[in-house]
Amino acid sequence: MEHPENSEEYKGLQVNAGVSEQLIVNPYLSRMRKKRRQLLTADEYVEGILKGDVSILSQAVTLVESVLPEHQSIAQEVIEKCLPYSGNSVRVGISGVPGAGKSTSIDAFGIHVLEKYGGKLAVLAIDPSSEKTKGSILGDKTRMERLSVHPKSFIRPSPTAGSLGGVARKTRESIILCEAAGYDKIFVETVGVGQSETACHSMVDFFLLIQLAGQGDELQGIKRGIMEISDGIVINKADGNNIDKAHMAATQLRNALHLFPMPESGLIPQVLCYSGFYELGIDEVITMVFNHIAKTKESGYFDVRRNQQARYWMYETINEHLQNDFYHNPVIRDMLKPMAASVVAGQMTSFVAANRLLETYFKLKKE
Ligand code: GDP
Repeated sequence: MEHPENSEEYKGLQVNAGVSEQLIVNPYLSRMRKKRRQLLTADEYVEGILKGDVSILSQAVTLVESVLPEHQSIAQEVIEKCLPYSGNSVRVGISGVPGAGKSTSIDAFGIHVLEKYGGKLAVLAIDPSSEKTKGSILGDKTRMERLSVHPKSFIRPSPTAGSLGGVARKTRESIILCEAAGYDKIFVETVGVGQSETACHSMVDFFLLIQLAGQGDELQGIKRGIMEISDGIVINKADGNNIDKAHMAATQLRNALHLFPMPESGLIPQVLCYSGFYELGIDEVITMVFNHIAKTKESGYFDVRRNQQARYWMYETINEHLQNDFYHNPVIRDMLKPMAASVVAGQMTSFVAANRLLETYFKLKKE
């Protein structure tokens, strides 16, 4: 084909005819890209979620996790509209120290639950490390290989921004969206460090603690005050030459549990051994969880606990918003550092400094 640059005007230049450029590989790509950047309306999100559209559910969860006010206002509307369709699920919290085998176990438990009971499973997480280091304990490895490609499962890593309270609230709100999208089994995973276990406990119907035997400290959970909130305790890695140790640890734990006051559910937590990796005893663990939940439904404790949780989260949300409003107030922000320095230097007591800051804040609020 005659090329304009081969004309006399451009002497010394020769443009050879080449292969014509391909159209675009995926003609829908640009459309998809454009669409992704655009926000849908709250009603469109809700419609997609109720239809079980995973892509729209993911986008809505991203909005829930976003700190941008315009995202938050849509997210809150979506949550409110999904609320009537939520609640019909079994929510299980799964906790354990790093290396206890949570991801291996959740993969095994999840596949087993889906095979045994059908339905759909969402796996959400509360990762406390995001608070300080912005790093993640849970999210930095290939996790849950089978579940991550299972058509009936939805896996979402922990929200990252904000305080533990904020992260946990977002996970709780995501539960509502997942339930509205038809996920009738929810696993909430959390690392067994810090306050995140209490936060996780406050949004699930059954809190499962994964322990290890043979670590020289069989009663780790007691020390960390976590046993009181566990509805069931399981000892992982009961395989190979670890089986005897695991059973011994289980006996110790069972004995220890008798020393605790009776849980509010009226059910003493069971202690079981299993192997997530070799998939031994998985059915027993799942049966324990589902039987426990069935009993609490019969006794009415299931609803009592969910109501307590709803109340807890109302107060948590109020506290979080008040805190945010206080700490993001520009006047307060300017005052905070010098005041803290004066407290540290011994020029002012903590109480005087706190009161002065609060008085300033309340005065500003009145104006
Ligand atoms: P997480 O940090 O709690 O999520 O733990 P992982 O699931 O990543 O497991 C930590 C390590 O323990 C990995 O190397 C797993 O292969 C191993 N592991 C997990 N479950 C078992 C088990 O049941 N038996 C044995 N022997 N090893 C396991």
